[in-house]
Amino acid sequence: MHNIERNWDVIVVGSGLGGLSAAARLSRAGLRVLVVEQHVYAGGYAHHFLRRVRGTQTVYDMDVALHQTGDLDPGRSSYKLLSSLGVLDRIKLNRFDVAYRTHGPEHDLVVPAAADDYEVRLRVRFPDHRRGIGDLFATLKAIDDEEEIGERTMALMGMTLEQFVKQFVDDDVFLAVFATLWGYLGAVPSRLCAFTFAMMWNSYHRGGCYYVRGGGQALSDAFVAIIAENGGRVLLKTDVTKIETQNGRVVGIETARRGLFHAPVVVSNASAPATFDRLLDDPALAAEDRSGLSELPVACSIHQAYVGIRGDASALGLADRGLFCIPGYDLDAEWDAMAKGDYRHQGFMLGNHNLADPGHAPPGRSILHVAIMANGKLWSQLDDGDYQARKQELEDYLLGRLEMAIPDVRERIEVCEVGTPHTMERYSRNPDGSIYGWAVTPQSHSVLRCQPRTRVPGLYLAGAWTFPAPGFEGTMMSGANTAKLIFEDMEGNAQAQSS
Ligand SMILES: Cc1cc2nc3c(=O)[nH]c(=O)nc-3n(C[C@H](O)[C@H](O)[C@H](O)COP(=O)(O)OP(=O)(O)OC[C@H]3O[C@@H](n4cnc5c(N)ncnc54)[C@H](O)[C@@H]3O)c2cc1C
Repeated sequence: MHNIERNWDVIVVGSGLGGLSAAARLSRAGLRVLVVEQHVYAGGYAHHFLRRVRGTQTVYDMDVALHQTGDLDPGRSSYKLLSSLGVLDRIKLNRFDVAYRTHGPEHDLVVPAAADDYEVRLRVRFPDHRRGIGDLFATLKAIDDEEEIGERTMALMGMTLEQFVKQFVDDDVFLAVFATLWGYLGAVPSRLCAFTFAMMWNSYHRGGCYYVRGGGQALSDAFVAIIAENGGRVLLKTDVTKIETQNGRVVGIETARRGLFHAPVVVSNASAPATFDRLLDDPALAAEDRSGLSELPVACSIHQAYVGIRGDASALGLADRGLFCIPGYDLDAEWDAMAKGDYRHQGFMLGNHNLADPGHAPPGRSILHVAIMANGKLWSQLDDGDYQARKQELEDYLLGRLEMAIPDVRERIEVCEVGTPHTMERYSRNPDGSIYGWAVTPQSHSVLRCQPRTRVPGLYLAGAWTFPAPGFEGTMMSGANTAKLIFEDMEGNAQAQSS
């Protein structure tokens, strides 16, 4: 390791998808890029872990995060992005006709991925709202068809999802069913920005529902290979302790185990609060970037169980890749329950991962997921004893949800790992285990997140805390956008020097 090059054109702190996509774009353009990651795997949340069944050679490959991603049909935005970066040539995709299933006291709906089929299904279930549903779907399509952001889209930015949907269909049951995927952006419809939801919704229902074969790790590995092929390097197990500045501009980083590395440009994929408050050696330089941040809401975290069982889960009773179950139609009550840590009164998601990608479970076995959104703050202050007790209770509750689908699931379990918000924080370093950076509200969506080009010369952000959005798609877009800004600034600087 002593022969690592110390001088680079760009250093990226963190190898989440935002960091990796920025690094891939920059290195493909000929810049020498070093990515520095504290964890043993690259990918941030887009990584996997292996669990061996005790005393055997049987290994389960658990995908930490990816349930599904969108917009990978040819010509759509993620497709274009991943082709332009060379990633698409290195991954294989599974495409689904069914987006998910949603279940509650008054509904049970298998939701098709294709928007037209979905519209028909909703019209059948809500016959009194046929016209409103037609108008809602037509509006979403018009937004998707817009080449430039128009007035209609601008209006959505200032609206919550609830306000938007209720213009067309004023019915709480409909709202809860239509907004089933609110958990993918981490805020209930009365808080969630309608614009970002519409973007995500269109990406799945007009751009295709996908899973990357091999999981989030396969995607991250594809980025790493591209960075390496273009002369860059991804350094794992290396904690960045400082972003160094001199005379008010960035000059490099300090690491815990490997000393200093120099670059005139640093992209931080670490959380925005950590970047400005802990990593930047002179936080005063970022006074403007930090102002107002304390008012932005940090997004929620997640409790997720990763369970390996003997048997075929589909045959045993869980034949859904993603089944969202809600206890009722008052999503604000669910939100309040989450705020208090009362997960017993929240909805949950059950997933048969073999239906996303059968290659992760050993033969004759299945991987199951159970997920519930979480208030990460409640987990960050527990002492060790309380933490272990709460984690045990949580595990029992999550397995109880699985029993609803597979009654003898507990006897079938070979491996079980529960991720709490504390786990999410430990591995990603995101405050409160946030899985989406800032929450996505009308006050903190896209352009209202932290600016990717900070006021500190040479310092940029990429990932869920900055423009445009969290999630796989949003963060990959973010990295590419940040790279574009860096090119613009380099060009501007070169022009200024030559004139
Ligand atoms: C359980 C779960 C399920 C999810 N499901 C989906 C889904 O189905 N679809 C979807 O689109 N999205 C999903 N998401 C959200 C998605 O995974 C994230 O929004 C996205 O991956 C975040 O990427 P990021 O670029 O912001 O970086 P992060 O993933 O947050 O990674 C940041 C990286 O920076 C590193 N780092 C931080 N500080 C330092 C430091 N000082 N030194 C070195 N390294 C540092 C961290 O170790 C980490 O690797 C899910 C997330 C979770 C947790």
